[in-house]
Parts: sequence; C-alpha cells; structure tokens
Amino acid sequence: MEKRELLYEGKAKKLYKTDDENLLIAEFKDDLTAFNALKKGKEEGKGALNAKISAKLFRLLEKEGIKTHLVDVLGDNLHLVKKVDIIPIEVVVRNIATGSLTRRLGIKDGTPLPFSLVEFYYKNDELQDPLINDEHALLLNLAESEAELEELKRLGREINVILKNYFAKKDLRLVDFKLEFGKDSEGNILLSDEISPDSCRFWDMKTNEKLDKDRFREGIGGIKVAYEEILRRISGDI
Ligand code: 5GP
Repeated sequence: MEKRELLYEGKAKKLYKTDDENLLIAEFKDDLTAFNALKKGKEEGKGALNAKISAKLFRLLEKEGIKTHLVDVLGDNLHLVKKVDIIPIEVVVRNIATGSLTRRLGIKDGTPLPFSLVEFYYKNDELQDPLINDEHALLLNLAESEAELEELKRLGREINVILKNYFAKKDLRLVDFKLEFGKDSEGNILLSDEISPDSCRFWDMKTNEKLDKDRFREGIGGIKVAYEEILRRISGDI
C-alpha cells in the first residue's frame, strides 16, 4: 500500500490517503510539542519509536478484545489504519495525580488515586483542549448520546486495566494516558491515534524516573533514550 495525497497534518502525525478509500497511512513525526504547541522541538527517531511502541500496545489490546484502527505496520514510522471519523473528545485516564490534575485541584503530585479517574477534554487546539463534562459533550454534539459517552468511559477503564497490569510486569507505573476514538463507516467505535510515551506518563517503578514526554515538557532531555527504554521493556512478548 502506497501513500497518496496528504489528507491532514497534525502535531505528531501526518495522514495520507491510499488507493483504498477505507484505509489511510499514518506517518509518525519526530516533532514534539507541549503546552498547546507553545513549546516545540524535534528528536530524530522519535516518530519511529512511537510507531513501534504504539503498534505493540494496539496489538496487545486487540488480543484482549479492544477494537482498534490499526491494520498493519508498513515501515519504521508508518501505520496502515482504518479510516474513521475521530470523536473530538480526548479520554484521559489517571491512576496517579500529576500534571493538570494537581494544578487544577491542588492534589499533591504523585498521590495514588483511590480509583482510576476518567476525564473528557474537548479536542480543540484553539480552545487549548478544555476539560468538559458529559453535558458539555452532548451540548457540543461531540458524541451521539449519553450511552456513547458511557462506552468511552468503559473502554478507557478497560484499556487502563490491561495496560496498567501489563506495564507493572515491565517495572513501569502507568501514571496516566490520553486516548482517542473514532467511528468507522459502520459506526463501530475504534481506538485510534496512538498510545506512546508522547500520550502516556510512565514512571520507573524502582527509581520513579520519568520515561515519557514530561522529559521534554520539563526540559530534562534524554527523550530518545527514555523512549528506547520503554520499547526495550515491551519488546518481544506481544
Ligand atoms: P495532563 O492533563 O496532566 O496534561 O495530561 C494527562 C495525560 O494525557 C498525560 O499522559 C498526557 O501525556 C496526555 N495528554 C493530554 N493531552 C494531550 C494531548 O493533547 N496530546 C498528547 N499526546 N497527550 C495528551
């Protein structure tokens, strides 16, 4: 399958049409952005690392019965994916308080949460992806129904259980992560976008070292080494 016209370019990926109208090629970029793209950077090889990590995790989730958009891996940083209409809601699941949760609610950084918290954010760059509740989502027609929102929450929690247990075996704490879902031509909800250290927080269980995009956000550096470490720990077993 070959790349045809560029359909869309986002902050971390480009999407190309293919000869099949139901399939697209996602190209993972080396660009890094944070704080609503106020901070920008590039790390050679980051796109390929994320493409490999995300493919492994999507395949793991498929095995566990979660439907995803991933069809095939075509090259170092290319995924063949099903064309979906993205639901413009970022589903964030949190196990430990950090990031915007601690800033918004004053919870001490690093506090384990008594249950996995699912939040919705409106995927809208101009508005800087604001936190929304179910009624906002319905008001803005971001989802079809309350039942669809409940399904997104259920999927978020189910994916969290699978990934949290999986990463624990790799000595990694899955602190929080962001998911995106889309609908295929038959209306099925498919996990889309990516699951990578760009969209998740991973802390080493023994040292608490951050092995994710916070290294870029906080200017710690060593992104590539950290992402390679994630890939190394998850390699070979899916
Ligand atoms: P926070 O709300 O604390 O900034 O982020 C919570 C989790 O969701 C983190 O793992 C973060 O990486 C992820 N996340 C939130 N918004 C975005 C986004 O727009 N893009 C990406 N890649 N990840 C996000």
